[in-house]
Amino acid sequence: MNTKNSEKLYKRGCENLVGAVNSPVRAFASVGGNPLFIDKAKGAYIKDVDGNKFIDLVLSYGPMILGHRDKKVEKAVSKALKKGYSFGASTNAEIKLAKIVCDAFPGMDKVRFVNSGTEAVLSAIRLARAHTGKDKIVKFSGCYHGHMDAMLVAAGSGLATLSLPGSKGVPSQAVENTLIAEYNNLESVKTHFDKHDDIAAVILEPVTGNMGVVQPSDEFIKGLRKITEQRGVLLICDEVMTGFRSKFGGAQEIIGVQADITCLGKVIGGGFPVGAYGASDKIMHNVAPLGGMYQAGTLSGNPIAMAAGIATLTALKNKNPYQKLNTVAAKIESFLLTSAKKYGVDITVNRFGSMINPFFGKKEVTNFSEAQSSDTEIFAKFFWAMIENGVFLPPSQFEAWFLSTELKDRELEKLELAIDASMKIVSGS
Ligand SMILES: *Cc1c(COP(=O)(O)O)cnc(C)c1O
Repeated sequence: MNTKNSEKLYKRGCENLVGAVNSPVRAFASVGGNPLFIDKAKGAYIKDVDGNKFIDLVLSYGPMILGHRDKKVEKAVSKALKKGYSFGASTNAEIKLAKIVCDAFPGMDKVRFVNSGTEAVLSAIRLARAHTGKDKIVKFSGCYHGHMDAMLVAAGSGLATLSLPGSKGVPSQAVENTLIAEYNNLESVKTHFDKHDDIAAVILEPVTGNMGVVQPSDEFIKGLRKITEQRGVLLICDEVMTGFRSKFGGAQEIIGVQADITCLGKVIGGGFPVGAYGASDKIMHNVAPLGGMYQAGTLSGNPIAMAAGIATLTALKNKNPYQKLNTVAAKIESFLLTSAKKYGVDITVNRFGSMINPFFGKKEVTNFSEAQSSDTEIFAKFFWAMIENGVFLPPSQFEAWFLSTELKDRELEKLELAIDASMKIVSGS
């Protein structure tokens, strides 16, 4: 594979950008080699600056669920562009997207749009503290909630890929109200509840993508809802990744839990920067201008981003592609398991809706420490073999692969061949 132009851009990029990337997950730190530079994308495919074409299972880390440059989204964005880029005043588009989002989440009466998932979470945490008058937050190791100070402990894929325990530059005071529990371990939450009476909220990815795909056990998630309710602690579901990806709405309905505050991002912007947090009227009344919790944004509710969000969610609602995406994920799972068995490679495949990933190793993966026991060296080999065979994966063992509605029979055939060839390479046979 020729990567001459990518190499050239990487060198130049390193001069004025940090590691030539604007988000560390895009660096190829754990798989070795240098990142590919992208020229353009369409449908299920992405093309780099050397003209190499890949089936894209990164999808911008989730947002592009309709594939790249969906016709309806492109049309909506072009139309919005002609009316102006940003006003610093309210528009009808914000009301429309708010209605679509609130209708999709039972218990969500009001929503506030922001510009990223990180902003959604940091606002949701401020809101939980404002509403309860308490300060402590329980988070689970391996869950990623954006890069705000208080959430940068045991924060999953991005840090795990770089073998970082947390982040430098985070003052100890910023994390002294953060309590860490273990995913799928209700006792680890109860221990904190017994020790502290000033807990405002428990935050989690209701199904994780940031330590790879891990689902909560029924007992864990139902138990968590019950004890938070009993203790007057708010439950924050961070659905930045899962929202509108596994179902119209979020993972909450599938796993049978209803959050007090829900965080959204990724898919709701259709590839443009949008995040959101929403809750009941009662909770949202804390937010300025109705209440005393301040949170603002110059570009929040940006009209171009709102247009992309409305078009994306409307298409998802009309198409209802979720059953089909599930079937596609099941096929990919069977490709992985069949080829692994054929070549004697140990893997565990976890999937939820249109998120899937193999962990290289023997063990079942139900939490972060089990995820971390998987073999990242084999993953690195597998990653490059997949690249050579025309498939672009997230460059980390701890990151979900994302599926789009543009994966048709042709792409599935290619994926089956690529997986078989790559598994053969990692097995050394
Ligand atoms: C991606 C992600 C975030 C952060 O969103 P950004 O838009 O990258 O700031 C937060 N929480 C979860 C669960 C995510 O997957």
